[in-house]
Amino acid sequence: MSWQNVLSENGYRVSGPRRYVMQLLESNAQPMTPLEIYQALSESGRPLGIVSVYRALELLAELGLVCMVYNPDGSAGYVAGAGGHHHHIVCQNCHRAIAFAGSEDLSSLIQRVEKETKFHVSDHLLQLYGICPDCQKALADAVEEN
Ligand SMILES: [Zn+2]
Ligand SMILES: [Zn+2]
Repeated sequence: MSWQNVLSENGYRVSGPRRYVMQLLESNAQPMTPLEIYQALSESGRPLGIVSVYRALELLAELGLVCMVYNPDGSAGYVAGAGGHHHHIVCQNCHRAIAFAGSEDLSSLIQRVEKETKFHVSDHLLQLYGICPDCQKALADAVEEN
């Protein structure tokens, strides 16, 4: 289902701010902070107030249309969502974020944590870091040249 459909099925208009933010994030593999979104939209001639950017992101995140992803330096940005239960792997070199299906089996880990902490685990936040294929190749080429 397209993001336009998700918005209208939940009773929201496909307003300018929501459309601009979604289109920008869909064209960007790297997570973007609200400030970066604000700046990129101003530069592309679609200026939105920073408050509109935050409001649009809040709604889009609530509907699962955008996800918050953490850069290797710990700063958080948004990427377009992949739908369904999924997680992201982020390249430590170029910061590109790729979604993967969340079909992992965490039950043995969760059981151990519940036993150790006496918590009842209800949710999780999982993200992986690594080096993407393009950066692996670029790094290998750089080593060869030396
Ligand atoms: Zn990379
Ligand atoms: Zn998961």
